[in-house]
Amino acid sequence: MLPLVALVGRPNVGKSTLFNALTRTRDALVHDEPGVTRDRHYGVCRPEGQRPFAVVDTGGIAGIDEGLAGATARQARAAAEEADLVLFVVDGREGASALDDEILAWLRKTARPTLLVVNKTDGLDVRAAINDFARYGIRDAIGVSSAHRQGIDELLAEVFARLPEEGVTAELDNDPNRIRVAFIGRPNVGKSTLVNRLLGEERMIASEVPGTTRDSVAVDMERDGRLYRLVDTAGVRRKSKVEEAVEKFSIIKTLQAIENCQVAVVMLDAGEGVTDQDASVLGYALDSGRALVVAVNKWDGQTEYQRQQTENLLMRKLAFVEWAEKIRISAKHGSGLRELFAAIHRAHASATTEIGTSEVTKAMEVAYETNPPPVVRGHVAKLRFAHPAGLNPPTFVVHGTRLRTLADSYKRYLENFFRKRFKLVGTPVRFVFKDST
Ligand code: GDP
Ligand code: GDP
Repeated sequence: MLPLVALVGRPNVGKSTLFNALTRTRDALVHDEPGVTRDRHYGVCRPEGQRPFAVVDTGGIAGIDEGLAGATARQARAAAEEADLVLFVVDGREGASALDDEILAWLRKTARPTLLVVNKTDGLDVRAAINDFARYGIRDAIGVSSAHRQGIDELLAEVFARLPEEGVTAELDNDPNRIRVAFIGRPNVGKSTLVNRLLGEERMIASEVPGTTRDSVAVDMERDGRLYRLVDTAGVRRKSKVEEAVEKFSIIKTLQAIENCQVAVVMLDAGEGVTDQDASVLGYALDSGRALVVAVNKWDGQTEYQRQQTENLLMRKLAFVEWAEKIRISAKHGSGLRELFAAIHRAHASATTEIGTSEVTKAMEVAYETNPPPVVRGHVAKLRFAHPAGLNPPTFVVHGTRLRTLADSYKRYLENFFRKRFKLVGTPVRFVFKDST
């Protein structure tokens, strides 16, 4: 299970700055691509060598008593009420205010484990800034400067000390013979229909994985002689009335499903094209680095003309995940499923097959010699050697000099070169550039 940390505080204390400091990857090649919608309220913090956790920024949770308008606010508040840890963010420059008091009163009611985060302590006496909030009686307090990334590592250490233990799911996720697949997408695209069809066809061999909690249902299945584990398949259970009405954790559940899978199948509704919500689900999948297949569902309900229109739209709107296969399916009629599973396999193989160091270095040399980087303001970057540094997603470290001057277009060239050479489809590819000067 992906633990959940909620940022709570009045407006302007720096929650979204802190949210960015926690969730934005500093990886040079992961940049905002046009077409991806970055959700400003939900993200995943992936500290190096540590367990990831979900972060929700509850926005201005102030004025709770007047009844906050908007589903987003309610959803965020509901998330905070169930969070494994609440970071109560306050402003170290302004000190305690009446609004902070109100939020504190609400927090006490929720009784969630709480860490007081005194932000904007840059240039301040941190001890004194924290002492200003002593009357809140929160013993666990830490001073940070989100804007300057000061104290963030210390904050992370405090967070990890308070998150629940990993639990059994981690072991369940380690069967090397099974491909872990998550079917994700906004409500109504047809996830349950698909999963129920898959399991209906395979009723004899499908079985729920023991030890998974009510929140994360994993089901094992076999198809054409291959083994799969469908993770977090909400569709396996009949949706309860409450769940349908509220859907309050759909985003957290999506993040969780992505975290637990190797291949994320993002489902779209052919009749609706690519909505903002679809784009943000794709954004989450992209950030995670998981292999990705796009399933365009309800293809049955389309006329020939509409299909052509949809194809054009997909090509345009999904340009940022050009490398992902788009498969047309009908969950209702079961068509396209063979192609879908073939694409899942290709994506999984691309994402998890080891490539040798010498092959990687050779590829880099050929790419470099064929097309060396252009001179930028009198300087030119030199690529010296490269080696593989991880899988799912395939990651390559490139060493050289003046790599900081490498243009995005050159990085894209390298990526495409590697993709072609190693036949990488359906998976993101990451490069880490290490300057040796
Ligand atoms: P939110 O409304 O709580 O999400 O607050 P924001 O993240 O939007 O920040 C509000 C203002 O505080 C912005 O102008 C930020 O630049 C500023 N701010 C945020 N964090 C810091 C910090 O650590 N130090 C200083 N000096 N300013 C900060
Ligand atoms: P979920 O919320 O993503 O799990 O979506 P559901 O599986 O509940 O499906 C939402 C609606 O779309 C239901 O009325 C389904 O019958 C319908 N639906 C699902 N798949 C298809 C399909 O392939 N073709 C058509 N025409 N309708 C579908």
